[in-house]
Amino acid sequence: MSEDPEAWRLTPAPEEFSRLRSPLIGVERVPLCPVCAASAQSEFAVGFDYELMTCSNPWRFVQCSACGHVWLNPRPGVAELGIIYPSSYYAYNYAKINPLARKAKEWLDRRKMAKIMAQCATRPRTYADIGCGDGRFLRTSEGFGVPRSGLYGLELDEQVVNRLRGEGYTGVFCERVEDSSSLPESAIDLITMFHVIEHVSDPAAVIGQVVGWLPPGGVFALETPNIDSLDSRIFRRTHWGGYHIPRHWNLFTPSTISRLLTENGLEVIMTIFQTGHSFWMYSLHHWVRFEGASRPRAGAWFDPMKSLCGIAGFTAFDLVRGALGAHTSAMLVICRKPLS
Ligand SMILES: [Zn+2]
Repeated sequence: MSEDPEAWRLTPAPEEFSRLRSPLIGVERVPLCPVCAASAQSEFAVGFDYELMTCSNPWRFVQCSACGHVWLNPRPGVAELGIIYPSSYYAYNYAKINPLARKAKEWLDRRKMAKIMAQCATRPRTYADIGCGDGRFLRTSEGFGVPRSGLYGLELDEQVVNRLRGEGYTGVFCERVEDSSSLPESAIDLITMFHVIEHVSDPAAVIGQVVGWLPPGGVFALETPNIDSLDSRIFRRTHWGGYHIPRHWNLFTPSTISRLLTENGLEVIMTIFQTGHSFWMYSLHHWVRFEGASRPRAGAWFDPMKSLCGIAGFTAFDLVRGALGAHTSAMLVICRKPLS
């Protein structure tokens, strides 16, 4: 590692970024650890927006010297969110993917929901999915007996929200979780938030909102990348798919996410390791395409949107590893708001 702490800023972008004229965007510093507020930190990884190439900045993850939490510092400025989340980012083309892959995904969704429901003391009458996308988990929960009148969701894509409301999901709103005022306080029996917490600027504030919506005894399930996994270690230097640079701002381990949840008023019941097939695929994709010289056409075999064989192979691999007790790169943490 260089003695100059700012040397990472001089890391040149792969040549493909300049061919595409990806811009340099504004940044803001995040001096304190978002989990424990300590200021001592060291460089963890440096990389680029390998996935979407929206900007050509080099980005750096740092690790807290006190608690081990990893966060992006600096991170994109708020004014740049329209660049790093292009409109295509929210295009839910789930219906267009291979029917076999869709069936497999529905099976995995039902399996995940069954594990979460098993932790509820009684069958939930109300359910909210934060970052509900096209509403697939709202539909899954109806299969478990939650009435449509008790369903809530937050989603940032206005078109998707309007479509869901048109289908009778009138509890779905186009709001950021931090600013939301539309969900009922202390009245939602079960809340899920899949792959959202790593994107937000203030994870503790988001957990605080969720705690406000839960009644005592209510259950909250959160899924987020696990930076203490085999693939994150293999591709740690720069190419790990779970970095999702520069859109993932906080990366947790089972221990740091547990600390964030308990310090904000929840009891962790269990952590389940899910399949991290997309992270395996994107890691290999980024490595093949960008290690050394840029290879614009290389890596297509590992594009999770196109390679059914790769997805099936890594899903099976992680299902077996998870069953054997390995810590995969996607963790599902189930917790509860204490009764008193
Ligand atoms: Zn810390």
